[in-house]
This record gives sequence, C-alpha cells and structure tokens, in this order.
Amino acid sequence: MILVTGGAGYIGSHNVIALIDAGYDVVIFDNLELGHIETVETLKTVQTKGKVVAFIKGDLQKPQDINAVFERYKIDAVVHFAAYSQVAESVKNPRKYYYNNVYGTLNLLDAMLEHDVKKIVFSSTAATYGEPEYVPIDEKHPQIPVNTYGKTKLMIESIMDDYDNAYGLKSVRLRYFNVAGADSQNRVGEWHEPETHLIPNILKSTFSGGKTFQMFGDDYPTKDGTCVRDYINVEDLAKAHVLALKYLSNGGETNYFNLGTTEGSSVKEVFSSCEAVTGKKIPLEVKSRREGDPAKLIADNNKAKKELGWIPEKSLVESIKTAYCWEKNLSGNI
Ligand code: UDP
Repeated sequence: MILVTGGAGYIGSHNVIALIDAGYDVVIFDNLELGHIETVETLKTVQTKGKVVAFIKGDLQKPQDINAVFERYKIDAVVHFAAYSQVAESVKNPRKYYYNNVYGTLNLLDAMLEHDVKKIVFSSTAATYGEPEYVPIDEKHPQIPVNTYGKTKLMIESIMDDYDNAYGLKSVRLRYFNVAGADSQNRVGEWHEPETHLIPNILKSTFSGGKTFQMFGDDYPTKDGTCVRDYINVEDLAKAHVLALKYLSNGGETNYFNLGTTEGSSVKEVFSSCEAVTGKKIPLEVKSRREGDPAKLIADNNKAKKELGWIPEKSLVESIKTAYCWEKNLSGNI
C-alpha cells in the first residue's frame, strides 16, 4: 500500500490516479484544509481494477494522526505532497510554513521510521534553486532559495539526506517547475482558493463575471518582456512519481530530479495560447512586477530522462485544453 499525503490536492490527486492506473493500493492522508472532499470522493470512484483507495483525514502536525495511518495499514512507501506552497504567503507568515512543511514532514518521517518504512518520494520544487545563475537549470545548480517556501523544501531535502546516512531512509526528491493542466478525463484538476497561478487565472477571465486578467510585468529582460516559465503537464508529472517509486523499489539510492519540459514559454505566449484554445478575446491589464518572480526558469530534465526513463509527452496547448475543461466544470459553465 502506498501512502499519499496531500492526495486530495491538485498534484496529489493526479498522482493517486497514476498510482491506481499502475496497479497500486493507495491510502490518501489529507487534512482537507486546501484539498477537497469532493476530490477524495471522485478518486474513490476511479476504476480500480480491484485495488483499494482509502482515505484518512488527518494533520501532519499531529503525530498521533499520522501514526494511526501506519498502525492501520501496511505501508510500503510514501509519496509526500502535503504542504503549503504559496511563495508570497510564506514570506509574510514563515511560522505557518516551517511548522506545516518542516515539522509536519518530521512527524511523517518519525512515523515511517517507527514502522520500518524506508522509501519516500518527495514533492520538491525549482524554488530550492532560487535566482537562476544559468538556464536551463540542471540538478547541479546551486540551491539558494530566495523565499521561505523554497527554504522549507530545501531543509526537508537536507533532512532526508541525514536520515539516509543515519537510518537508511531512501528518498527521491522531485523538483517541479511550473505544473499545469488537469486530468485528461476531467475527473480532477487545479482547485485553489484563492487561485494565484497563471493558466487558471487567464482561463477564469474568459467566464462571464470573471475578473480582467492581470499580467504581472512586461519589462523583464526576456524575448517579449514577460516572465518565461517551463510548464510541465500534471499527468506527465504524475508518471514521474510512479517511476520514482519503482526506482526505489528496485533498490535505487537517494536521488533528486528536475521535472520540466526544457521549453520556456512567456506569460504573453501562454496568454495567446489560452485565447487560441478558448476562441475568446480575454480581457487583459498589464500591472507592475510581482515581487520575487525571476525572469526565466527553465529545466534541464536530462537526469530524469536518463535515470528514471521519464519522458514528458504533453504540450502546453494540451495542458491548457484540459485546464479549460476543468475550469468550465468548476465555474458551472459546462
Ligand atoms: N502571472 C501573471 N498573472 C497571474 C498569475 C501569474 O502575470 O494572475 C505570472 C507570474 O508573475 C509569473 C508567471 O505568470 O511570471 C507564472 O506564475 P505562477 O504563479 O503560475 O507560477 P510561479 O512561476 O510563481 O510558480
């Protein structure tokens, strides 16, 4: 049985589907603060080929909650998503982030060690690299995070190294670039309240009563003045986690990989693609830069390709199409 913390959230829910498709039994652990019970209900109805999808509501900041999962189920490995992930909020309220992300993970690792579970796939981030010194960013790039969110993820990576040295806990840390899109069968998707991400925000502006889309800065030193990001499809991303689990099951050592496409798209390009996919003229307002946004983040993904056998397949347009179907669901505009 695989324990998925944060399985009711955006990336976690797509991973639960990928794990079920790969034939694993899954137990989801989520406090439903940011995840949704509707998502859990949907995941329980996903075609399971006789596999178990269980749910336990609980909080990683309460050791008894997470210990109870290991008491009840025989866990073989953990995929750990549960975390706060908003950069601006992390800078304003670091306590919230250190307690939830770092202390919560320590409780999870304690429970794992107490129950002799020694394999974990961890949801890390390109934010651990900080301001890029070069692009594309490979795994050798210095990790100097510039915000609390990135610092919490880097601390956890470093805790995992120490836990491997001391206790033999094997981890794979997956450093995500910009995750985009939704389930191609429209069962789950991105559902944040409030939404801060680019693609859902552009798409929300297409609905009647939607706000004008705000573009944060068009004076960056990039091809068209707007920030360039590497948008990785959420289903492609989920597949990498299944490969990482297999890697660990086959005796793989602690490791870390970038998950991105190596393609950079500017905010203006994403905006134009959204107009093309939706066939709508989207209201746009150019605002000043958002604090802490680097001009350009692009992944070098060769390591994941070579060592995990991972091949990202879906284009930005495919991500926008599935995200649009999902947004129509959410807004009731089907
Ligand atoms: N962005 C924007 N308007 C929005 C949301 C995001 O212009 O409503 C820009 C943001 O400044 C950044 C890019 O889109 O340059 C991607 O932002 P997002 O929050 O999706 O991901 P991040 O790169 O911060 O992880």
